[in-house]
Amino acid sequence: MLLLSATFVLVGAATFYGLQHFLHANLRDSLSRRSTQVEQILVKAPADVNNSAIAREIETRVAPEFNNRFVRVTRVPATLVYRSGPPSDRSFDPSAVVDVERTKAIRAGEPATAIVDGQHLMIRTTPVITVSGKYLVELGVSIAPIDAVLDRLLDLLALLLPILIVCAGGGGYWLVSWALRPVDRLSQTAEQMSLQNLTLRLPVEPSGDALERLSISLNNMLGRLRDSVQTSRRFLADASHELRTPLTVIKGELQELTRESDLTKGELRERVGSVLEEVARLEHLVSGLLVLSRLDAGETQGDWVDVDLAELALTTAEQMHLIAEDRGIDIDLSELRKTVIRGDQARLKQIIVNLLDNAIRFTPRGGTVALRTAADDSGSVLEISDTGIGIPPSSIPYVFDRFFRVDEARSREDGGAGLGLSIVKSICTVHGAEIEVDSRPEWGSCFRVRFPRRSITVAPVSAPRSVDFGASSDPEGKVAARVAIDIAENTPELTSKG
Ligand code: ADP
Repeated sequence: MLLLSATFVLVGAATFYGLQHFLHANLRDSLSRRSTQVEQILVKAPADVNNSAIAREIETRVAPEFNNRFVRVTRVPATLVYRSGPPSDRSFDPSAVVDVERTKAIRAGEPATAIVDGQHLMIRTTPVITVSGKYLVELGVSIAPIDAVLDRLLDLLALLLPILIVCAGGGGYWLVSWALRPVDRLSQTAEQMSLQNLTLRLPVEPSGDALERLSISLNNMLGRLRDSVQTSRRFLADASHELRTPLTVIKGELQELTRESDLTKGELRERVGSVLEEVARLEHLVSGLLVLSRLDAGETQGDWVDVDLAELALTTAEQMHLIAEDRGIDIDLSELRKTVIRGDQARLKQIIVNLLDNAIRFTPRGGTVALRTAADDSGSVLEISDTGIGIPPSSIPYVFDRFFRVDEARSREDGGAGLGLSIVKSICTVHGAEIEVDSRPEWGSCFRVRFPRRSITVAPVSAPRSVDFGASSDPEGKVAARVAIDIAENTPELTSKG
């Protein structure tokens, strides 16, 4: 309203003074033309002309009283030659008109125009030099009609301005509150939202403006938020469920142990071995969860370095060949071609460990697991294929989901918690890599990881040292856990010794 008031006042003042200036300029022009008439009379008069002859000539040619003009002719320095009588409209008193610009006009030798205060007269004073002497011609016109117009304009402005300001202020207030009403509705709905109530959606007004786009974007964001909250809740529920199973077994075993006092040393070892087996499973599960949460937070374990995938695959396979041998599985390393990528070596190794471990576990005795690394136009490829039991087509879309297992009983039996592939997937994401799987039941599976050409999409964040308790070659502890389970299964007396 302040801004509007200032603008209106400025516009009003500009109109008033603009009009005044225009009318006065017009009057000045007409004064100059009339004055020239009187000057001509003086110029043309003979040298011995008398005052009454000049007066007669002016009365005849200019008729000042009739035309409501003021004419005064003075011979310099101060002899009055002629002064017009009162005008027909009585708008001024000729005898009371003071000479306003006389000195200025004489000194400058050229016409000067001024307004006579109190008389509503604009007077032009012109010095004229003739053969009969030096004169001053003062010609005035009433500015009363102009003043009347300007007064009317002023009255109009004084009346209109407050009305305009009140209307503009009220209208502006109404317009702003009308425009902000949808924002109010948005904020009311937003107030009702909480993590428990993420199904609520903000109202979308089909206005086609930024507010509609904002509501749609916020609703999309809420959808994503709800999905991620649901995923977290499901993850928490699944994790609790997975943790409860081995804990129940451990509790049962220990309760039985306390009850049965006459166990032989061998039986005791066997029981403790089975408890240890569950503890190893728990440890495996917890370290898997830890790795996943770190990866979710975008953390990697170590510095990013140049890693030759072929070399990494070779050393990892060598470290795991005992497990494969034990299960009667051949590892084919003939297609390892040097290809260097940039990444976190420990995490990259974990990809190979998890995929190789699955391949060995899900391949029957006598089968083959092949590792292949190669470089192509788009980057580097790591492939781990097996001649194992394969994955049914209906399960393929879910194999990378957390806690998903095709055959839950069998997998759990094997020590798998359904986290291995989701960890692989998360590591791939951190490295900007894509993972895909080709698999058919009874034919085998092939997991293929495609790394982009030396590009890194996610900046690594170093894990805090205080919680760094994964072994560098087996950060998830998967191999260690599996070895522990294998040992527990085959040589209970060893595990019972810890
Ligand atoms: P787990 O730790 O239980 O093995 P993963 O996430 O590694 O969990 O694997 C999920 C499931 O995918 C496994 O339970 C298994 O059913 C299936 N799977 C993974 N790799 C293979 C494979 N090479 N051959 C057959 N099935 C596989």
